[in-house]
Amino acid sequence: MKITVVGTGYVGLVSGACLAEVGNDVLCLDLNPEKIRILKDGGIPIHEPGLDQVVSRNVAAGRLHFTTSIEEAVRFGTVQFIAVGTPPDEDGSADLQYVLAAARNIGRLMTDYKVVIDKSTVPVGTADKVRGAIAEELVKRDVVVPYSVVSNPEFLKEGAAVEDFMRPDRIVVGADDEQAINLMRALYAPFQRSHEKLVLMDVRSAELTKYAANAMLATRISFMNELAVLAEKLGADIEHVRQGIGSDPRIGRHFLYAGCGYGGSCFPKDVKALIQTAASAGQGLKVLQAVEDANEAQKLVLVDKITRRFGSDLSGKHFALWGLAFKPNTDDMREAPSRVLISELCKRGATVTAYDPVAMDEARRIFAEEPRLSYAVRPMQALDGADALVIVTEWLEFRSPDFSAIRKTLKSPAVFDGRNMYDPALLLANGLEYEAIGLGIKR
Ligand code: NAD
Repeated sequence: MKITVVGTGYVGLVSGACLAEVGNDVLCLDLNPEKIRILKDGGIPIHEPGLDQVVSRNVAAGRLHFTTSIEEAVRFGTVQFIAVGTPPDEDGSADLQYVLAAARNIGRLMTDYKVVIDKSTVPVGTADKVRGAIAEELVKRDVVVPYSVVSNPEFLKEGAAVEDFMRPDRIVVGADDEQAINLMRALYAPFQRSHEKLVLMDVRSAELTKYAANAMLATRISFMNELAVLAEKLGADIEHVRQGIGSDPRIGRHFLYAGCGYGGSCFPKDVKALIQTAASAGQGLKVLQAVEDANEAQKLVLVDKITRRFGSDLSGKHFALWGLAFKPNTDDMREAPSRVLISELCKRGATVTAYDPVAMDEARRIFAEEPRLSYAVRPMQALDGADALVIVTEWLEFRSPDFSAIRKTLKSPAVFDGRNMYDPALLLANGLEYEAIGLGIKR
């Protein structure tokens, strides 16, 4: 199949590369010339495990190409994936300008049948808008060209995106015409050889499914985070509670980890967008609003612990920070809890030395104007001269540090862990104070 992917970000590049991997001819379009230059030079503009091999293998095989030319991109694929960003607008609703610009480009230039697939996360009703935008362009040109619009939300996780795309749990397709449905079946056949994974539905339900999934996951996290705060007050241990409830198959073990708040490019924006969608339909989503509020509060939980230990004026204090990315295995810092933490510590007069295996370039870009933030090349180097260690991302390489070296290096023996990575007994045995999330009992 000839496939165009519009938008070569986390979703577009992974989708394009994986679709090429199963034998399709794929052209990835991006309007950011720098991204396309890097890709054409054999580089990868994002950090995503395993992606470089899939991209280079398929470029070498002549199945994966990159362009900034809209004309070339529209001409190329019968299948046109729209995988551009849908950032939050001022009121929290999804900004559709990039999606609709991509749709208009397709309508402006197409000369034969196209299946236009919304892969971006978009509110219910967007497929109708995409259909309308294409129709308008065809009317302007006074031509009739057949096309279908399909909703096919993406469920990949950053950090495991290639694996998720190649071996999906489910493939949600919202479509209402036979030709498009047949094409979607053929397109995804290579990804469901073990068993049927295609969940076929109407377009609006598919659009809502994506938001429902992210909203449910965010709800679990905020629920556990609130319980963690309560556990501390009551002298209970959220880690025991997690294990106790997770073993119930109706609850399950996933997404029950208390921490210093969820971040990333999806949960925060999708929760806000669903609240807005509901508001414009005249409904308040009380549970989801609370999920959002609880998360905003949770991003400050480490700052509260730090100021309780060192006072609210942190002038002259210096902190080592492990982890910048919103989760391990990605360089993505969109809405990362580390951003709130760094800003709050610096605002209170502290200085911070951060270490992250892959997200430091991104942090340098985001915090270009923050002289109080510096970077270390190794985790332990970040501790030089630091009063305390603060951990916000559970990278594998932080799992088993040398606690006695940490004790010797830190000025105060304090470790603030936003991801509950360690056995408290181990830190106590090494003379360290351990402040984690929801550990209300001394073990
Ligand atoms: P991203 O910001 O990494 O990439 C979007 C790309 O689209 C950018 O490179 C941008 O330059 C390009 N672009 C914008 N307008 C364009 C146009 N008209 N033509 C061509 N290129 C254009 O975004 P992302 O993280 O890949 O997310 C894309 C969509 O997928 C969003 O709706 C997001 O919610 C959804 N999604 C993201 C993830 C994730 O983990 N990142 C997972 C599932 C779904």
